[in-house]
Amino acid sequence: MVSPPEIHLCQPGAEMSCGACCGLYNYADSSRESLAARLRGRTALYGAWGRTPEDLEAFAAEIRRREDGTKRYEVIYCCEYLGFLDREERRVGCLLHPCQNGGRDLRGVSFYGRELCDGHFCPSYHYLSREEKLALLMIIDDWYLWGLVVTDIDLVKAYFRLAAEAVSEMPKPAAFSDREVRGRAGDFFALKLNWPYRSDDVRRFGKYYFDGSQYMIRPIPYDRLHCDPSPFDGIFKSLTSEFRSREEIQRAEDLIRAHIASFREAYERWREKPLTAPASCS
Ligand code: SF4
Ligand code: SF4
Repeated sequence: MVSPPEIHLCQPGAEMSCGACCGLYNYADSSRESLAARLRGRTALYGAWGRTPEDLEAFAAEIRRREDGTKRYEVIYCCEYLGFLDREERRVGCLLHPCQNGGRDLRGVSFYGRELCDGHFCPSYHYLSREEKLALLMIIDDWYLWGLVVTDIDLVKAYFRLAAEAVSEMPKPAAFSDREVRGRAGDFFALKLNWPYRSDDVRRFGKYYFDGSQYMIRPIPYDRLHCDPSPFDGIFKSLTSEFRSREEIQRAEDLIRAHIASFREAYERWREKPLTAPASCS
């Protein structure tokens, strides 16, 4: 038996959710628009589809027929049963889950099968600290960004380590209820979407790339660019960076430093605010 996690990262609430291990980001075109169109189409089709095992297998075949299935990495399965779970299209998740089917668990027809789907908790559950998870839950409110960030343990740990050094303590989860603190941290994690030095090679995902047989981490060629390894090397790799010159690396470092300084300013302002007295019960 897998014990249920204290903080749920897959479906943390009504605001957002994750589908990364179901292959969400493994399409060659994993842009927000493209993934949203896929998920929307599947949910609409599923609503009008039968629920017998034969129906559900036909559903997967129909999805494969309709969609462009070109993947980033052939070895990672992209599950056809991932869709949007709500009308507002804020939560991505499993269409076969009991919550979507009046209590019936239909995941047995899927590629991974019911047991694997039900019992899988990715490394982020184990390696992110409670404080990091709570902070992320307050910082991010977007399904597309949530899945990219919550699975990038190195990026999350690197950010909170730099933030902790800047404010001389591990940032308190409560600080992220402050709009400004939350916004500054959110701007950093949004670099996953708008990093100016991002490689557009579809075979790269985060710090990894796939050469056809195995995953490898692509090092940043500091020697060739005539500079020392950057103190932000781990962050650069997580952001799928590709630099053409030493000057670009310097500008990228300045950008990271500016984000940390901006967080520190907001956090210190929050720390100086008087504590709000609890509401009186009388
Ligand atoms: S990658 Fe992790 S958080 Fe995302 S759906 Fe899978 S187990 Fe849940
Ligand atoms: S069947 Fe399994 S792999 Fe497919 S969407 Fe559901 S949980 Fe993910």
